[in-house]
Amino acid sequence: MLCQACGSRRASVYQPHSGRALCRECFVEDVRSRVSAEIKKWGMIEPGDRVLLALSGGKDSYLLLESLALLHDPSRLMGLTIVEGIPGYNREEDLRKLREAARGYGVELVAVSVKDFTGLSVHEMVESARRRGVSLSACTFCGVARRRIMSDIAKELGADKLATAHNLDDEVQTAIMNIIRGDLVGLRRLHPRSRSSGIRRIKPMRKVYEWESATYAMIRGFPFQSAECMYIGEHPTLRARLRSELYAVERRRPGSLLKFLELLDRLLEAGEEEVGKCSRCGSPTSPGRAMCKLCELLEGVGVSLPPYLSRSPLISLRGLRGWGEGDAP
Ligand code: SF4
Ligand code: ZN
Repeated sequence: MLCQACGSRRASVYQPHSGRALCRECFVEDVRSRVSAEIKKWGMIEPGDRVLLALSGGKDSYLLLESLALLHDPSRLMGLTIVEGIPGYNREEDLRKLREAARGYGVELVAVSVKDFTGLSVHEMVESARRRGVSLSACTFCGVARRRIMSDIAKELGADKLATAHNLDDEVQTAIMNIIRGDLVGLRRLHPRSRSSGIRRIKPMRKVYEWESATYAMIRGFPFQSAECMYIGEHPTLRARLRSELYAVERRRPGSLLKFLELLDRLLEAGEEEVGKCSRCGSPTSPGRAMCKLCELLEGVGVSLPPYLSRSPLISLRGLRGWGEGDAP
């Protein structure tokens, strides 16, 4: 069967939401053009913007890296990878491959460890929590710390935008979780124009299905991280359930996830955002909360003076090349 886009090469990827069978080249082109269209639609990146890319080394982060390097001036891009400090995960080997790939696109990569930033690695937080009888999952500590490191480093580096590699499946799962919890603030934060974390966070891949990102990574031969985190089983069960339910919905009605997110974008467009401020570190927080989630979690595991309160998180990043010619912050 021939590709239904170019009509000349052999089709090898069937795309249920469009009903088309595509060749590898046209599939890659289709994914890139959806990323580009989403960026333009919401004005995610302006010419000259300094964009910090949050890269985990997983398949999605390679797609983010490649598509932005093709769409934007690579000297205005910088990669950030966070070392959680979880045994067997984020190995040196994967970091090296990611750094080499970034360099291949002309993008510098900086690595920041959770331990340097908060005083404890994710693994140590979990152990301390267990000793103290605090029943919170590793993913809670990890997610809260990572989000905070990303926005603080983005501010420190003078980035205009912080790009993350969330895909369509991630976005729809998060939206439904917020709806189920009745969390309107969290739901509004998902809107592509949201500025609730201080820096503008962008998700250029929010209209790309997870299976498409995986297929793209395979076609392009990305050396993405294959090691699984030892805490994967602690991932919120609601998210895991939604993930499989949504697969089933999508199989029966291809394109459902895309339609859901497009509808949500329209519904949230008019909403107002409220933001509070952490009494300890001053970071943006949900309205009505005294402390931000990270300060609160760390206090629970015995860290009352985390390093980020007293020194720049960039202390370990000396020798950074900066953003292109002559205007490093
Ligand atoms: Fe962090 Fe949980 Fe992911 Fe492991 S599975 S990297 S602990 S969020
Ligand atoms: Zn705080």
